[in-house]
Amino acid sequence: MREALLKANISRAFYILITIMIVEIFMLIVFFTKLAPIITPSLRKFYIFFYVILIVVSGITSLVYNRYRKKPALDLPDQRLLSFTIYAICFFLQVWGVGITFLDIFNGYGQIIAFAINFIIAGILFIHPPLQWLIVSLPPMVFLCFGLHFIKTEQTSGNILTGNIVNLIILYVCIFVSVHLTYRSFKNSENYKRRIEVISVTDMLTGLYNRTGLYQYIQEKLPDFNNCPIGVLFIDIDYFKEYNDFYGHVKGDECLQKIGMHFNGFAEKHNGVAMRFGGEEFVVILPDHDEASVSRLANELRTDIERLNISHERSAIADHLTISIGQYCDTLHLDDETDFMRYLDKADAAVYEAKRAGRNKVFIFQGEK
Ligand code: GH3
Ligand code: MG
Ligand code: MG
Repeated sequence: MREALLKANISRAFYILITIMIVEIFMLIVFFTKLAPIITPSLRKFYIFFYVILIVVSGITSLVYNRYRKKPALDLPDQRLLSFTIYAICFFLQVWGVGITFLDIFNGYGQIIAFAINFIIAGILFIHPPLQWLIVSLPPMVFLCFGLHFIKTEQTSGNILTGNIVNLIILYVCIFVSVHLTYRSFKNSENYKRRIEVISVTDMLTGLYNRTGLYQYIQEKLPDFNNCPIGVLFIDIDYFKEYNDFYGHVKGDECLQKIGMHFNGFAEKHNGVAMRFGGEEFVVILPDHDEASVSRLANELRTDIERLNISHERSAIADHLTISIGQYCDTLHLDDETDFMRYLDKADAAVYEAKRAGRNKVFIFQGEK
């Protein structure tokens, strides 16, 4: 959630700062060609300073954000630093608005519009947790209100300044409500996205990874084990059609859930992963295990299922439910994710041999690796 919020803000900051930079360059040109004559001479250098500093800050930070917004994942120190810079930028935009507003008032233009624009940009174009927004927005706003209250110039009457303070307070409340609503809808959409992500990789009956989960695992986790030994178990329940025919599909589903949970616990215990390949077929991947260890674990898993002692009156080989396992072990070489299908194919071929050899067996792939 924090990372998603940061990424959204970095991407927004990039576009916002580029826009600000272009607008301020335009303002600088307008300043020299049209505005300078109507600005009090002693204030001109301050206006130029404010324009230039905003152009420089937005230019540099947009370049930095451009680098980070393309990264798929950010490590923790980067996340902390970037979160801080987002709040620093929002604070800076408001402080800049305060400065320009004071200059405008000293110049006889009794409006707070420059601050209001930056305040709105910082408040509604970024996504802020409300409490953090309070921390970053309250000091400049209070400073500006006090400043306006105490400033006395020839051109601005007390009434205009009081009106400005009232308007600022109304603006502050409205933007705070908007910050709250934006953050709430961001949180909801992130939760929703995460739920959809989980559902899309989960087999709803057993809670194990489904086929999409398997591909995701191959792409995201398996590369960590490249060049390590790996074992793949392809598991098929014996005489499961007969089980369904005799006990009914509801009992069949319960049985798949029970066995699936067992595979999951087993895989987790051995730093592997279990998934439902489809129907009554499962795959267990055991990275970083050599062939001897995988064979021992496969036999352990087969006898574990026997020990669950799930009655199966229609099995031709036992009075309880059994599984057949095809095993394939190799050193993992992943050049692309489709490579791993070769490993699954071989474990699948081995399970076929286990069936032919009488079922309730572990069969190691014998062909060419
Ligand atoms: P074998 O020992 O050769 O593997 O025989 P089998 O009966 O297990 O294999 P077969 O492929 O003939 O039948 C698989 C059965 O798995 C058919 C279907 O009724 C059952 N099955 C597949 N998916 C589900 C499911 O989601 N729920 C239930 N209850 N049964 C399922
Ligand atoms: Mg089958
Ligand atoms: Mg079967």
